[in-house]
Amino acid sequence: MASSSSIEWTEATWNPVTGCTKISEGCRHCYAATMAKRLVAMENPRYKNGFNVTLHYDLIETPLRWKKPRRIFVNSMSDLFHKDVPLEFIQKVFVTMEKASWHTFQILTKRSDRLAELAPYLPWPQNVWQGVSVEDDRVIHRIDHLRTVPAKTRFLSIEPLIGPIENLDLEGIHWVIVGGESGAGARPMKEEWVRSIMQQCKDQDVAFFFKQWGGVQKHRHGRMLDGRTYDEYPNHLIPV
Ligand code: SF4
Repeated sequence: MASSSSIEWTEATWNPVTGCTKISEGCRHCYAATMAKRLVAMENPRYKNGFNVTLHYDLIETPLRWKKPRRIFVNSMSDLFHKDVPLEFIQKVFVTMEKASWHTFQILTKRSDRLAELAPYLPWPQNVWQGVSVEDDRVIHRIDHLRTVPAKTRFLSIEPLIGPIENLDLEGIHWVIVGGESGAGARPMKEEWVRSIMQQCKDQDVAFFFKQWGGVQKHRHGRMLDGRTYDEYPNHLIPV
C-alpha cells in the first residue's frame, strides 16, 4: 500500500498497517473507514479483514525502494499507535524510517497516551516528524503528550476543526495544519475558529498551514484565506 497522495501537506502515503477503531469525535466521519469499505467492495486483498487492524509485514521496507526523496505520510489508513499494533512492529517501522534517511516521514496519531508511553523505546531520527490530531479543545491534552516526544519536528493536525480552540500552548510545537471536515455530513467550521488559531500560531512563531475549508463538496470552498493560501512548513527544515 504505497502511492502518491492528494493530501495537500504530503507527497506519498505508506500503510504498513491498515484498519483502526474510532476513539473521539474527530473520527466520526473517518475517511480511512469510508475508503476501506470501497476497497473491500473492490476485493482489494489488503482489506480482506475490512477495517480491522491488520499488520502488513511485507510492506515494512517499501520506502527503501523509493529512490526519489519524498514527504511520506505514515499510515493514512490507520493509526500507528493503536493498541493492537505491537511495539516490535512499530520499532520495525522506525528502523525503516531511520534507514531511509533521504525521505521525510510524517506520523499522525490520536493515541497520544500510547505515543508518549512508547516514545522512549523508539529511535527518533531527524527525518521523522511526529504529530497528533486535535479536533477541538476536549482533546488538547494530546499536545502535552506530544511535547514529551523527542522528535525533531512535532506538529498538530487540527482537522476536522469542529469547535473553537483558544489558549493553545504551542511551546515545543513546530507546525500546525488546520482544515475543515469534508464529505457527506461534514460538520461546519467557523471562520473565527480558523483566524484564532492562525493568530495563535503567529504570536507563538509556529508555521501555519491552511489545508481546506471543507464542506460537503470541498472543491467549492477551496483553501484560500484572505485571498491567499497559507502553505508554511517548519522553516528550519523546508524553505518556503
Ligand atoms: S484514529 Fe484516524 S484512522 Fe482511526 S478511526 Fe479515527 S480518524 Fe479513522
